[in-house]
Amino acid sequence: MNNIEKNLSHIHARIAAAATACNRDPDSVLLLAVSKKKPAADIRNAYTSGQRTFGENYLQEALQKMQELQDLDISWHFIGAIQSNKTRSIAEAFDWAHCIDRAKIARRLSEQRPPQLAPLNVCIQVNIDHETSKAGIDLAELPELARAIDPLPGIRLRGLMSIPAPRENVAAQREAFARLSDALKSLRQQGIDCDTLSIGMTGDMEAAIAEGSTLVRIGTAIFGERN
Ligand SMILES: *Cc1c(COP(=O)(O)O)cnc(C)c1O
Repeated sequence: MNNIEKNLSHIHARIAAAATACNRDPDSVLLLAVSKKKPAADIRNAYTSGQRTFGENYLQEALQKMQELQDLDISWHFIGAIQSNKTRSIAEAFDWAHCIDRAKIARRLSEQRPPQLAPLNVCIQVNIDHETSKAGIDLAELPELARAIDPLPGIRLRGLMSIPAPRENVAAQREAFARLSDALKSLRQQGIDCDTLSIGMTGDMEAAIAEGSTLVRIGTAIFGERN
């Protein structure tokens, strides 16, 4: 086995253990392989090991790799910040966008989604710890933004995404994730049909899965350190 294959199998074992520990089906947690700053050859390698879902942060880099990997059946997720001038390419090339925090961006993505494609799946990014260094909305703004986005025809609101501040221990990690999980439930109670909690990275995926993560975003533990 090569390194990427070994790493993937190790991550699958971690997901399975974390899910089983809280009586969840391991298949209810999707593994998003974050391939930013890694070459197309690494993605091809992971694909050969069975990975089908990849996340990229930088548009030009992502489009380049998509070109090189056209022969593969990959589901591409955009997990970077989205400026207005990038919405068209994102709407045309990706299946998901995780970092929506403005209605204006959501409207552009919806308008620019090619009609022959299924609606673009989107998550609203929540800045759960109110960090000035991070994008995302406060939970207090969530109901209004979700109601603005939900009816747009070219996109489909799937749920919430967040990157909490690093914490010392699993209990503290779970506290932040639990607030996101409650917020998703509350959206559902308000009649917004969403099912995705995009939470959990290499260092906190167990806590995220315990609080209901349906999608973990893992880079370093699959592809190694980035330069
Ligand atoms: C880079 C990145 C990840 C992956 O982080 P690792 O620490 O390498 O697992 C996950 N989510 C987002 C939004 C990222 O930018």
